[in-house]
Amino acid sequence: MKSSKDKLVVGAGPAGLVAAINLKREGFNVILQEKQARVGGEPGWHPSVHTTPVDDPGLYDYIGINCAEAFVDSTDVLKVFVGGKDVPGMKNVFGKLGMKNTERGDRPTSLDSFLFRIAEKEGVEFEFGKTFTQDDLERAAKGTILTTGLTPGMYDWLGIDHTVFAGYWANTETEPGFVSNTFYLGQFSNEYGYACAMNGIWYVLLFARRDVDPQDLEKFRGVLAEKEGRTFDKWRRFLGHTPKGPRLFHRDFILAGTLAGVVEPAFGGGITGALLSGKIAAMAVTEPDRALTEFKRFTDGIIAHIARKKAKVGYAPTIQMGKVWFDVK
Ligand SMILES: Cc1cc2nc3c(=O)[nH]c(=O)nc-3n(C[C@H](O)[C@H](O)[C@H](O)COP(=O)(O)OP(=O)(O)OC[C@H]3O[C@@H](n4cnc5c(N)ncnc54)[C@H](O)[C@@H]3O)c2cc1C
Repeated sequence: MKSSKDKLVVGAGPAGLVAAINLKREGFNVILQEKQARVGGEPGWHPSVHTTPVDDPGLYDYIGINCAEAFVDSTDVLKVFVGGKDVPGMKNVFGKLGMKNTERGDRPTSLDSFLFRIAEKEGVEFEFGKTFTQDDLERAAKGTILTTGLTPGMYDWLGIDHTVFAGYWANTETEPGFVSNTFYLGQFSNEYGYACAMNGIWYVLLFARRDVDPQDLEKFRGVLAEKEGRTFDKWRRFLGHTPKGPRLFHRDFILAGTLAGVVEPAFGGGITGALLSGKIAAMAVTEPDRALTEFKRFTDGIIAHIARKKAKVGYAPTIQMGKVWFDVK
């Protein structure tokens, strides 16, 4: 028999894991349901290296989990090429945010595995290999936390307006201690490319708000050969879905991570957004008003960012937009 202390979290990405850990610590019986056979997300996208601004230790204090072990600082090695030219001024803007790299996927060194180990220790119960369906959604208890990330179905089932982005990625092995973080802006697609390394993985991605032009991909490969001194051969395409705006509550459910539309607004860091919103989703179970206030505080900058894009005043991140994220005591 279900009790009000039973909570279901759907999706074992960073948002779902942080929500589950926090709820378990609040005394709930937490089940985390994940469609893949193990933690580490969509196998077609990983192992990968992501980069994101992190307020260390502000973010870790806020979510109640010290994730320092899963991140490596990449501010010092950061390079930003705009239109093919190294622009130190851009490095200064991004650098002020405190850039970090983190590994994603199912290897023991990934952020996903790190959070999984903590969740297991706290006593979160996992149901792997179990896809949450539209029928499950209709039967789900009020307050179920949904964190299904970039995958498409849930948006349609919930009736959430969303957009699709596309990209190509490749990876290769490198020396375990090698850390890199390079952005290529204004040269290929309507968004950007990046090259990041840590834990022996060198990961490159060309990302676009529309499908990537094959000529852009060819150009990106050439630039990587020139600037990174490496060729990347096995490219894989991906499509991801994101909502058109942020929301914490929808119908009777609580949303977190990508599904909630939470990204760090200065840079668009989804990892930081997922970690932070996992905490807010757990808060929404016990203190919904406070959680909504917190959610709005962190997402006001995202709304400003979307408005800037719509008004075509540029994609450039501003420190101002990110300020609240870097002051999270
Ligand atoms: C190729 C790529 C590169 C990226 N690079 C960066 C980067 O450099 N920096 C950055 O900050 N962000 C980056 N992102 C975005 C980042 O990965 C996301 O913001 C982050 O993973 C969001 O976390 P989440 O927990 O919301 O979702 P996810 O990490 O996507 O986790 C969702 C989980 O839900 C599971 N799931 C989905 N549907 C169901 C279902 N029906 N039933 C049960 N389980 C389900 C999935 O298997 C997955 O494990 C990148 C994303 C991609 C795809």
